[in-house]
Amino acid sequence: MVTEVFDDIYQMEIPLPRNPLRAINSYLVRGRDRWLMIDTGMNRPECLEAMRASLKELAVDLDRTDCFVTHCHSDHIGLVSELNTGKSKVFLNPLDAAIIRNPNLWTEMAAEARTHGFPNPDRAVEKHPGRRYLFSGDPEFVSLREGDTLPIGKYVFRCVETPGHTPGHMCLYDPEARILFSGDHILDTVTPNITGWCCGGDPLGEFLESLDKIAAHDVRMILPGHRNLIPDPLRRIGELKEHHRARMQEAIEILAAGEQTAYQVASRMAWNIDCPRWEDFPIPQKWFATGEALSHLLHLERTGRIQGKRREGKAFFSL
Ligand SMILES: [Zn+2]
Ligand SMILES: [Zn+2]
Repeated sequence: MVTEVFDDIYQMEIPLPRNPLRAINSYLVRGRDRWLMIDTGMNRPECLEAMRASLKELAVDLDRTDCFVTHCHSDHIGLVSELNTGKSKVFLNPLDAAIIRNPNLWTEMAAEARTHGFPNPDRAVEKHPGRRYLFSGDPEFVSLREGDTLPIGKYVFRCVETPGHTPGHMCLYDPEARILFSGDHILDTVTPNITGWCCGGDPLGEFLESLDKIAAHDVRMILPGHRNLIPDPLRRIGELKEHHRARMQEAIEILAAGEQTAYQVASRMAWNIDCPRWEDFPIPQKWFATGEALSHLLHLERTGRIQGKRREGKAFFSL
């Protein structure tokens, strides 16, 4: 399905089968003699078929189409090889390009997960959609960083680095039209997954700073990577900050029972999923939940509100 959401900006809904997000929004911006695509869908036949139907409807020539990828997750980057005719550029932040090119990424994440008490990380990694539906081949990426611009048609988009959801996540902002393509940084009705699995540091702290960064921009409409357009960015930013504040409070209350691993904390947090018992969660859901719990624990530790300790190859958190 294709909808013109702004002058010369088209939203394509690309289905994500058996995925709680249901679909990804890919966008096309019409220029004078080229198109700019923003995000692609996963590398799986259902996505490619929907994408090809939308491209046909708009009579898009892929030889004259470049692609900006907001971040390295497979639902956003998966089709870059399939859609590239060799005459297009694919733009990506170098931090996310390095993650996706790391040949040890999944073994490193599995080892980290084991440290945090996850019982069978190899199985979780095997089933992970980020690994299964990534692009084929070895696509070439053109690096873009904070402040770089992409002029296309009546728009001049500026890159805004918004680390948190991934270290190299970037939004695209046009100050004149006051619109922002937010990728997975700001979503309506679902909260972007902030995981502690990848890359160390304090991803939740970075994410909260990136929310404040966007709040300081004059934006009248957010065009997100999933679900609905967001006409009131400050309301949604406020809700997301409140959500994480409440989740950190929940983690602190769980730690009142004593020292625990991130996996144990996750198993005691409340999750919005159709499974009454933690034991019945499908393994990918356990993986996302534990990564999410860990990002809250790491931020609490960074800001001095809880303590982190390592003992016999395991990481524990306590008040
Ligand atoms: Zn994502
Ligand atoms: Zn996404």
